[in-house]
Amino acid sequence: MSETRRWLCWFSAWIAVLLAAGCLVPQSAPRELRFNVMGTYASVIAAGHETGRAEEYCKATETVMRGIESELTIYRTNSLLSQLNALAGKGSVEADATLRANIELAWKYGDLSHGTFDVTVGPLVRLWGFSGGKVPAAAVPEDRIQAARALVGYKHLHLDGTRASLDQPGMVVDLGGIAKGYAVDVCCDLLRSRGARDFTVNLSGNMRCFGRPAPERPWRIGVRDPFDANGMLGFLDLENGMAVSTSGNYERFVMIDGHRYIHIIDPRTGRPVEGMAGVTVISPSAADADGLSTALFVLGVEEGSKVIYGLPGTEALFVPDRQPLEIDVTRGMTRFFHVRPDLAGSVHVIGDHPQH
Ligand code: ADP
Ligand code: MG
Repeated sequence: MSETRRWLCWFSAWIAVLLAAGCLVPQSAPRELRFNVMGTYASVIAAGHETGRAEEYCKATETVMRGIESELTIYRTNSLLSQLNALAGKGSVEADATLRANIELAWKYGDLSHGTFDVTVGPLVRLWGFSGGKVPAAAVPEDRIQAARALVGYKHLHLDGTRASLDQPGMVVDLGGIAKGYAVDVCCDLLRSRGARDFTVNLSGNMRCFGRPAPERPWRIGVRDPFDANGMLGFLDLENGMAVSTSGNYERFVMIDGHRYIHIIDPRTGRPVEGMAGVTVISPSAADADGLSTALFVLGVEEGSKVIYGLPGTEALFVPDRQPLEIDVTRGMTRFFHVRPDLAGSVHVIGDHPQH
């Protein structure tokens, strides 16, 4: 072999190694693919050297989410969850890993939130016109609220081995407050098991991020202004594996007698929560962020921040439903949340004095 040919062989071998390692591939922009599922939208973003696998990630995610939907929806009478509800007070269903995991999460958030997060809130959710219930034509009478409240209590949701049951007739489990976060975690685990490193999975604002969109910057997620459909309060910079979820008063509500009632119910009163516009939680899992954002929405700033105090990697941002705009953040949240510099409002670190 001539000296030139030997040199060329050596050179092309190194190019092949560098290409295989991804060192010479030009950095492409992250690629996002969206689809509809669970009555809302989902999206997957693949970044870095994984953009070419975006379609594969999206397909896998869609298949998993559709499977979870068909099992946990209350909009189809033959879903496993509908069967559990139909057998309330009468019998049990064989719960697979998905239903069992959701029941265990439901107990966990129920305990953590002192019962303000309660998946058996279904009769109240329907009474107020959500999750398939008929929107009341006039103010809901107190006796009907109390009758529905009597059917609420997550401690009456049982798992006996693999059999799940509700011990009182008329009880209804509604997993709307956690199933989306749970689904995001399952999809992330699957994609990671297939080698995905730099990606996000989002299901209606329940999002989890891995890696980075580009080596020099983290995933940056906008936090919506609850008072302005096109505005942002600021953004969150999320680290590897972190999840974020927002519960807001602006997406699902009904109007009764000119008054706006939202889809998150306080099981203590039986009434839709008032006084809170938005709660954003960051956490190490999407299920935790989803469940806790709903729980903290019910609990409010003082009680809510106490509930997450000390939970590793878990921080919250609250926006009370009043003017002037005020954002209340836990101390640890200040590391991740960057307020929009021109925002007409104040940021208050919970436990500190207001900052303007
Ligand atoms: P979204 O589903 O709109 O993203 P959330 O995650 O906050 O918002 O969940 C709200 C849903 O959770 C409601 O639509 C209802 O199905 C259910 N829900 C309402 N109130 C409660 C509650 N106190 N505890 C548990 N789940 C609730
Ligand atoms: Mg939630």
